[in-house]
Amino acid sequence: MATDPTHPAGLGDTPAAIGHYVNGEAVAGSNNGRTAPIYNPAFGVQTAEVALASADEVEAAIANAAEAQKAWGATPPLRRARVMFRFKELIERNHDRLAECITREHGKTFSDAKGEVIRGLEVVEFACGIPHLLKGEHSPNVGAGVDSHSMQQPVGVCAGITPFNFPVMVPLWMAPVALACGNSFILKPSEKDPSAGLMLAELLKEAGLPDGVFNVINGDKEAVDTLLTDPRVGAISFVGSTPIAEYIYATGSAHGKRVQALGGAKNHAVVMPDADIEQTIDALMGAAYGSAGERCMAISVAVPVGQDTAERLVAGLKARLDTLRVDNGLADPEPEMGPLVTAEHRDKVAGYLDIGVAEGAELVVDGRQAAYPGSTGSAATAGGAGAGSADTTGAGPGVAGNSAGDGSTANGFFIGGSLFDHVRPGMRIHSEEIFGPVLSVVRAADFEEALGIVNGHEFANGTAIFTRDGDAARTYTERVEVGMVGVNVPIPVPMAFHSFGGWKRSRFGILHAHGPDAVRFYTQMKTVTSRWPRGVRDGGSGSSFSMPTM
Ligand code: NAD
Repeated sequence: MATDPTHPAGLGDTPAAIGHYVNGEAVAGSNNGRTAPIYNPAFGVQTAEVALASADEVEAAIANAAEAQKAWGATPPLRRARVMFRFKELIERNHDRLAECITREHGKTFSDAKGEVIRGLEVVEFACGIPHLLKGEHSPNVGAGVDSHSMQQPVGVCAGITPFNFPVMVPLWMAPVALACGNSFILKPSEKDPSAGLMLAELLKEAGLPDGVFNVINGDKEAVDTLLTDPRVGAISFVGSTPIAEYIYATGSAHGKRVQALGGAKNHAVVMPDADIEQTIDALMGAAYGSAGERCMAISVAVPVGQDTAERLVAGLKARLDTLRVDNGLADPEPEMGPLVTAEHRDKVAGYLDIGVAEGAELVVDGRQAAYPGSTGSAATAGGAGAGSADTTGAGPGVAGNSAGDGSTANGFFIGGSLFDHVRPGMRIHSEEIFGPVLSVVRAADFEEALGIVNGHEFANGTAIFTRDGDAARTYTERVEVGMVGVNVPIPVPMAFHSFGGWKRSRFGILHAHGPDAVRFYTQMKTVTSRWPRGVRDGGSGSSFSMPTM
């Protein structure tokens, strides 16, 4: 196994063999040695291997979590909140360490990874308010001498199955609220970047969470299927691609669980003729190419309204792409975009460029010809890499500079940013999620056509409109059939105290992630109707055999 040349001892340490975290301690995997490789995508080297849990290992973790939940569920919400307060402080103290861990296994830039940690931290802050969020409702005197109150009780054992693209933020969309509501939790992270989930487990233990209340099981379909079918698991939260989301929803529901399953996306930005074009281009560059397009809220389709808008937009984006800096996410100075997560995914994204050309779209910028470490492109990248000469030092925050030899990023999983023009609905590059740094321009003649293009898509996660016209913005937000909408905001991810979720085939199940919906999802309501007999003072009323009315 090659070593990771960016990997200094101690900081964001990734063990060579990654196991699980059960009952308050790290445990090695034992599923007949079944493992998956972990890479540092900037260097294209394998850095570790992760154990893939067997059904037996998952069942043992469920048993532990079920037992631990009993006492945790009975712990007063105020005390549960205090664990969340300490967890918040520990995340802040370990902010860089978590972000470095993300960059090494995912590839996104260090500042992007730090931003991811902040967005997860905000959900922990929301969960700190759990005593207020669980207050329930009370109606006195609903009948003569009768009171009624409702309370939110924990579901029991909850499980979270998460994608590779936000290894800290998405687990933190789920676990803090589930735990604060009194549940125990089993996290099944992506097998592509599992280390950050294990770091969260250690921080929760340090914060005072009792053993067994938060567990991490690494694995693949075998582990997921066990969580989906075991009767002791009461709720499943999933975030990932649409085919798997649909499977998770169908299988979990068929086994009597509540399920929320967030799926894939194809997010459109409508650009009106009156939009500030420079600001729009800035926004689209970040939204389309940030995190190498591996965001469920990335803008992957721009819909300029009118010929002139389209010409200005495409020319501006092309000029910006010519100087896009692509490199190791821990390089100094920091690039704008890192590598893709695996070589396989990079090749899949490259394959879509051929598909788009074959379908008749115009490939204005071909990311395979651009400058990035190991490429034959001619423009300069961060650190001067390009033309196959990449030997970027990778010296980022807290990262020792590479020694020579295997410190080259030439074999990293890079590709440059691509731009398609004259894409039409019906083309695969428009209908399918590419999940890479590829922006498609679908031209529209007017607002109605633009709206129709967005509403005609099966995915409906996020969208944005760029305009100075209040009426156009208001009409768009009212009529667009998408779950999260931005007005001159390219990535309208709701804050932690609102809920996150798309429509149509971007979400299965009725409740969204984090915010008030998460409290509803991770609790079950119990309504109590009480009457305290006054005994002799009432004289008794005898039996009634008709439906009780107040
Ligand atoms: P993925 O669907 O391949 O994997 C997600 C999780 O499901 C992983 O933990 C994986 O181990 C598990 N899994 C994969 N195949 C499985 C199978 N056959 N049976 C059971 N479990 C299985 O997704 P990914 O590639 O890790 O993440 C990228 C996808 O996630 C994109 O489609 C992106 O749009 C989506 N995403 C959506 C949101 C959202 O909020 N809607 C957020 C982030 C990512």
